[in-house]
Amino acid sequence: MRQTHNRNSSGKFCKVSLQDKFWCNVRVSDANQCWEWTAPVCGGEKYGRFYDNNRRIQAHIASWVIHNGPVDEGKFVLHKCDNPLCVNPNHLFIGTASDNMRDMVAKGRFVGGTKLKEGEVWLIKILLKSKLLYQKDIAKMFRVNRNTITAINVGKRWEKVQL
Ligand SMILES: [Zn+2]
Repeated sequence: MRQTHNRNSSGKFCKVSLQDKFWCNVRVSDANQCWEWTAPVCGGEKYGRFYDNNRRIQAHIASWVIHNGPVDEGKFVLHKCDNPLCVNPNHLFIGTASDNMRDMVAKGRFVGGTKLKEGEVWLIKILLKSKLLYQKDIAKMFRVNRNTITAINVGKRWEKVQL
């Protein structure tokens, strides 16, 4: 008989829930300590991630959803600790796009440079969409040419990065 790992002990197919998939990959420790994501993270990005129904979910966002319910549109799940891999719900809070940015600046995650990383482009797209800043200011913040920001804005560059 053919075996698949999706069959449970009684031989029936079972659907692995979001929670199961999530907890398999978390090193849970003390309530005050960071709970680190142990599964591999995707290239270049600092957050843990996994797939649910072919949807890519960041692990810390999944943690928030599991513990607190859905995240409102336009809101971000942020870390109180400076550990992107941490999924301890006690270390997470909800903020706006500008909180997110302030947070990253405050924690020195913006070192800038002429070569943008996927995560930075993602943030640039959020900033462009939110209209919180002028394109020239976004360019300054990421230490790139203003034309780069314009190209991202019109989809000429980095179109693979989707919000
Ligand atoms: Zn933490």
